[in-house]
Amino acid sequence: LSDLKNSNAVVVGLGLTGQACARFLVEQGAKVTAMDRSADVGVLTGVTLLSGDFDADVLCAADLVILSPGVNPLLPAIQAALQSGTKVMGDVELFAQFNTLPVIAITGSNGKSTVTCLVTEILNQGGIKAQMGGNIGTPVLELLESDAEVLVLELSSFQLETLDSLKPECATILNVCEDHLDRHIVLNAYIAAKQRVYQHASICVANRDDVQTWPKDYQPKYSFGLSQSPVGLSWDESNRCILDDGEPLVYEQECGIQGLHNVLNMQAAICCVKSFNIAKDAIRTALHNFKGLAHRFELINSTDKVRWINDSKATNIGATIAAIESLKDRQGGKLILIAGGDGKNANFTELQPILLEAVDLLITLGKDGQEIASLKPGSIEVNTLQEAVEFAHNIVESGDIVLLSPACASLDMFDNYQHRGDVFKRAVQQVVS
Ligand code: ADP
Repeated sequence: LSDLKNSNAVVVGLGLTGQACARFLVEQGAKVTAMDRSADVGVLTGVTLLSGDFDADVLCAADLVILSPGVNPLLPAIQAALQSGTKVMGDVELFAQFNTLPVIAITGSNGKSTVTCLVTEILNQGGIKAQMGGNIGTPVLELLESDAEVLVLELSSFQLETLDSLKPECATILNVCEDHLDRHIVLNAYIAAKQRVYQHASICVANRDDVQTWPKDYQPKYSFGLSQSPVGLSWDESNRCILDDGEPLVYEQECGIQGLHNVLNMQAAICCVKSFNIAKDAIRTALHNFKGLAHRFELINSTDKVRWINDSKATNIGATIAAIESLKDRQGGKLILIAGGDGKNANFTELQPILLEAVDLLITLGKDGQEIASLKPGSIEVNTLQEAVEFAHNIVESGDIVLLSPACASLDMFDNYQHRGDVFKRAVQQVVS
């Protein structure tokens, strides 16, 4: 793709990523068409805009088609373009063909944003100018002009599906749990997409206790995990301390984020920066200062003696299990879980044991709320998040925890997970004030 000048390029999907692709292609001198199902596609200088159903004839006539992450490559119009010989790729593949900066590539079912932020913070704290982007914040094509020394990319399985050319300095699959089966249909296809991150990586970082995160053909260069290990990142459970090659590095209580899933996230981040020789003090300072991201197991400031936790970003079973697990050690108090939404064809039975064992009351809502409620006797089904919060408020006592951790996407009832989390926070403020 060295020369895009005068080529006939089509961008499919016009969210932030699609818009960044269209702008980049225009700058490269391509003739750019962009299509989106929505009728309201706005205006982009130098771009022909088409709204409505994707037009297979336009796609087949193109030299190059760039798919936004939300667009399924199995759609008939996209398949027709592939069969007609049109090159079809995602934004990260287009980026990779032009990028010259070192990249740290991070994927996994859960923890990507957290680890991407942590890696960026540690590098910056250690004096190496890092910028993050991809599936978080800045679309990758806008990073081509970055003045950073290292790019830290969060990559989703959708962005990895069409990726061939990225040569990361370091790549990691943090963990794998069932997700996005509405799109990938089977778990193996989802794992195969994730595995593409390792294709040309110089260093692979994997969880030694989770074989699904390992690169197929060789051992990971750096490993992390909760199991004991003389090398790599490990965990001293009795002292709750992260060990690096067996040596104490940082205690959980000194860190801005807590819980075993976050211990794994911090370990993974430390592995990802290994080859940059960051001073241990800089690593500790970054881990101390990083207070976590909104909507990820976020404690809401409330005036009552109940802990209300907004974990709206828990859009799959694995994230919800991690949230409940990290509350298991608490002293006293009931745990009330609010869950439900669009389950993306997940099999919820995996959630059942922990619901029965560790959740005192389950309140469900949304498209798959009924299915989740059926896993635990005595569950309550409601129609809105406000109703769920009010119900919880009427029964909570001092010391209880109310956790919104839906195990589902939000799109059946909300604009996105942020919207769901904000509605939850507002509802909590209303009932406690
Ligand atoms: P992603 O970008 O992969 O969605 P986030 O860091 O935004 O990951 O976290 C998404 C959800 O997953 C949150 O509910 C968070 O509490 C949970 N989570 C974060 N790290 C892990 C992990 N290592 N294992 C399981 N769940 C996690």
